[in-house]
Amino acid sequence: MTLAWRYLLRGLHTETFSLRTPRTHAFLNSGAFWTPAFKRSLHTKPDMPPCDFSPQKYQSLSYTRVLEIHKQHLSPVATMYFQKPLLLHQGHMEWLFDSEGNRYLDFFSGIVTISVGHCHPKVKAVAQKQLGCLWHTSSVFLHPPMHEYAEKLSALLPEPLKVIFLVNSGSEANDLAMLMARAYTNSSDIISFRGAYHGCSPYTLGLTNVGLYKTELHSGMSCQSTMCPDVFRGPWGGSHCRDSPVQTIRKCSCVPGPNGQGGRERVEDFCQAKELYIEQFRDTLNTSVPKSIAGFFAEPIQGVNGVIQYPKGFLKEAFELVREKGGVCIADEVQTGFGRLGSHFWGFQSHAVLPDIVTMAKGIGNGFPMAAVVTTPEIAKSLAKRLYHFNTFGGNPLACAIGSAVLEVIKEENLQENSQEVGTYMLLKLAELRDEFDILGDVRGKGLMIGLEMVQDKMSRQPLPQDEVSQIHEDCKDMGLLLGRSGIFSQSFRIVPPMCVTKPEVDFAVEVFRCALTQHMERRAKKKI
Ligand code: PMP
Repeated sequence: MTLAWRYLLRGLHTETFSLRTPRTHAFLNSGAFWTPAFKRSLHTKPDMPPCDFSPQKYQSLSYTRVLEIHKQHLSPVATMYFQKPLLLHQGHMEWLFDSEGNRYLDFFSGIVTISVGHCHPKVKAVAQKQLGCLWHTSSVFLHPPMHEYAEKLSALLPEPLKVIFLVNSGSEANDLAMLMARAYTNSSDIISFRGAYHGCSPYTLGLTNVGLYKTELHSGMSCQSTMCPDVFRGPWGGSHCRDSPVQTIRKCSCVPGPNGQGGRERVEDFCQAKELYIEQFRDTLNTSVPKSIAGFFAEPIQGVNGVIQYPKGFLKEAFELVREKGGVCIADEVQTGFGRLGSHFWGFQSHAVLPDIVTMAKGIGNGFPMAAVVTTPEIAKSLAKRLYHFNTFGGNPLACAIGSAVLEVIKEENLQENSQEVGTYMLLKLAELRDEFDILGDVRGKGLMIGLEMVQDKMSRQPLPQDEVSQIHEDCKDMGLLLGRSGIFSQSFRIVPPMCVTKPEVDFAVEVFRCALTQHMERRAKKKI
């Protein structure tokens, strides 16, 4: 069913939500409004938009058996969400169903991976056809799915980014990009932002600067971190320098001048926060790396760190400084690629930069494990001269057939445009919530990559304690909305739904989040009494 039809159906069937009167922060904190009738209205679960799909009955392992097996045989690293982890059974577009038949609106997409929708009918049909034809052969042979895919993907990238290496995961793509940067430049040092996540392999662990992933064990040699230019949490705020429909509530660091802020005619032309953060970047280049470096990795928007956007113009200047040191610039599009940001197909395009290497994974296969590194013929040749790079599954026929179908669906169903329209709609609605609730410190992002940062209060910007964020997270899940967590203090939520999500579904999600925040305020008020 086309997106237009899905919209129409849902729009017609969706009940309008009773919008409650706007509440100010002072009013919320006063506790004066907790009349029994008001409490009842607050706890009314928002009505879920309808879904034209019925899941099969769950007939597999019991919940307790699953937990036993997990405990006995699977990784003991505590990665699971929720006090009672969800046992998922089936997926359909933006919906997930658990073993008890409960339906959830999936706003996390299996960690930003379901791009076009769970079990999308076209992608499923293409996969089934390819399964019946040829599942696997490796790249020591020619097979058309790989060549068709290479042609389609390369057409989406600007010159000279035309050579594709097909691999299986984001970490593997970034491993290879690191190796390429080093082989091409004959240097070792690579810089990445604090808060960046580029993978969990021993090589990429050096680039990943999220405390939780750091280890005392030997890994990630010759990687240096630099300050993340975060205009909400960082030392310098900016209130008009994010490429987003929503700006921070922080006071801008720009100095007011005769012609307005910054002394320039157009405030967007000058951003003092950008200048100050660039100074930090220069400082890293001057103090922490040798004369020549291999490269610089950047996510166009940081995902795992809580959808952090840099001031406009920062990446452009940083790329120039890196190139002066002989390094190459690598855009990690694992989360930002494939139209999710709405305005552009690739995140780097929204910064008006041209990277030397682009890495991609997750949304590329709508959940099928595949990834890619795209670079220039010159860099690709330098790698080929230095080593024989090969992997068994990269360019696998099934993966490539799925990858091609994903690209077709993004185009046919205008999913990039949908990300722009529905994402902007959602950002503006969430910005209203931010103005209502003091604990919602920041709303940011672009298209369907949105971050919500929870704070104790807007004045201090101290992170809301983890247990409180977890309870809000749990409450959303209980009302049928699955959000992602992120941030160094696990203080942020990530909203990254499949790109087919609709406005009525966004209305539901915003209403659920409002309800969860209100419940939180109620708990807080009770504690104070
Ligand atoms: N880069 C980014 C920006 C990511 O978000 C991730 C995964 N969260 C990776 C790389 C690593 O991808 P994978 O988990 O597929 O190895």
